Amino acid sequence: GTTLKIALIGNPNTGKTSVFNLLTGLNQQVGNYPGITVERKSGTCRLPGDAKGLILDLPGTYSLNASSMDENVVIELLLNKTDKDYPDVAVVVTDVENLKRNLLLFTQIKDLEIPTILVINMSDRMERKGISLDVPYLEQHLKTHIALVSSRKGTGIDHLKQLIVNYKGLSHEPCLNASGIDPEYFNRLRHAFPNQLLYKLWLVITQDANFGIIDMKELQGTSFTKTKSDLKRLQQKETIKRYQFINDVLKVGQTIDTSNAKDLRAKLDRVLTHQVFGYAIFFAILMLIFQS
Ligand code: GDP
Ligand code: MG
Repeated sequence: GTTLKIALIGNPNTGKTSVFNLLTGLNQQVGNYPGITVERKSGTCRLPGDAKGLILDLPGTYSLNASSMDENVVIELLLNKTDKDYPDVAVVVTDVENLKRNLLLFTQIKDLEIPTILVINMSDRMERKGISLDVPYLEQHLKTHIALVSSRKGTGIDHLKQLIVNYKGLSHEPCLNASGIDPEYFNRLRHAFPNQLLYKLWLVITQDANFGIIDMKELQGTSFTKTKSDLKRLQQKETIKRYQFINDVLKVGQTIDTSNAKDLRAKLDRVLTHQVFGYAIFFAILMLIFQS
């Protein structure tokens, strides 16, 4: 049979290692603090049919706009097609309670045109938190396939394996049109490097490292050089555009009803919010009385 290379990617604490352990039957250390997975760890997994999976558990990463060593490990792998571990399919693991924040990285990985599956983990907490998801809607608008998983309960893993063997059916459509970050600049890039993926080029430029993709000398001293502050501004623009996209999708695809939440803390939060609001009005009235 074939062996598929699968990279598990996600923000810290989304349950990557837990999913890894379920897939591989191994017992890597699960931690409730970031940075516990500090290097590439791999294991194998039997997949439906005759296929085998080589699963790579990567360090937790917030985004591809690298700032830490952990993040560099992931970027180096995903930008370098010649890396022996370069994945056939990326599995982005997210926490159902932090979808909005976790999806930032998902949209970036997807825009590298790597076949990407979305795991929404910790689904056992949905009822308590009053969260419901319209999975077909999310799949359609995030242009991916979704496995709703609880690695705590062990549910959704067979579905995930099925999605992995069917990875060829995944859409390659990006979430964000990279040119929108700076149309004039990206148009020039497109003409200068017609065979390169724009978003990939953009990462190379902002990371200021070549990762074996293009000869950075081609870029240096050309009109493609930008100041650090310009790059930072454009990166911020990219992040804002991504969150706009994510917000729009979640507005319809996700409902959080705290009045339905079985979770005491969610209920308490609601009461406290009302109470703080009440006190604020009370003090405002007091101030008015004192001033008059
Ligand atoms: P990683 O940092 O992404 O590798 O995440 P880990 O696998 O180390 O898990 C982080 C924390 O989340 C641990 O305390 C896990 O026990 C917990 N966790 C992982 N998966 C689930 C799940 O499906 N449900 C719940 N409730 N907790 C989970
Ligand atoms: Mg881990």
